[in-house]
Amino acid sequence: MIGILERFRRWRRARRLDAVTVSDEMWERAEGRLPFLDYLEADHRRRLRELARAFIAEKQFYGAHGFALTDEVIVTIALQACLPVLRIGLRAYRGWVGVIVYPGDFVIPRKIMDETGVVHEYDDEVLGEAWEGGPVLVSWHDEADAPEGVNVVIHEFAHKLDMENGEVDGLPLLPAGMSRKAWAAAFSAGYELFCRQVDAHEDTALDPYGSESPGEFFAVASEGFFEAPCLLQEDFPAIYEQLRQFYGADPAAGERRVYGEPPQDAGAESP
Ligand SMILES: [Zn+2]
Repeated sequence: MIGILERFRRWRRARRLDAVTVSDEMWERAEGRLPFLDYLEADHRRRLRELARAFIAEKQFYGAHGFALTDEVIVTIALQACLPVLRIGLRAYRGWVGVIVYPGDFVIPRKIMDETGVVHEYDDEVLGEAWEGGPVLVSWHDEADAPEGVNVVIHEFAHKLDMENGEVDGLPLLPAGMSRKAWAAAFSAGYELFCRQVDAHEDTALDPYGSESPGEFFAVASEGFFEAPCLLQEDFPAIYEQLRQFYGADPAAGERRVYGEPPQDAGAESP
């Protein structure tokens, strides 16, 4: 039986959802900014639009530092925020409503106490931040000045998933059928290898910022999974496989479909 309160909640949710209309032209414009969405299968792309519409209905967007939010900004952010929850659905983002958008990098004043009890105050320049039980802060960059190889929205929302079961430690809530042991084995080996690559100043498949902590590594691996999936699969196949199960999508297969299979036997063709 559905109680009155639950019925009221559903009615209110449906009303809010009805109020959100996104034209085909707007979807296409926002998706045009996100070429990596082409790696998704057609049913995933449809689901992503549905989720994004519900996300816009449920969340509240604010422009900070005088940033003027437009429909295009909101739709573009919503599409990326919903990528990590294609399989899980929006329940993973329950319990908070705010998405705060900054025009470019912003500064968060920090206060930390060191081991000797001395308090240090400093300004941390960031692209985004996710607060447990609170809003997500993201910076918006126009295509021309976007930081390369970084997807701040996917990054922060991967942190939100990580927080679902407590600390940001690189271990989100896994679905039934996935093994925590297999996850930990893949991620700890991958993290170790990645930190060695970063220390040696090698070119890495992922943003070197991922070497900060296992939690950051999971977030940058999630960015790579959706934006440069073949690269991630090549360098960190075990991590790719864990993320494929976790996110319920196989973007590397899509990337190969979009760009064609690499030639298997280039140069060996006989005349
Ligand atoms: Zn982070």
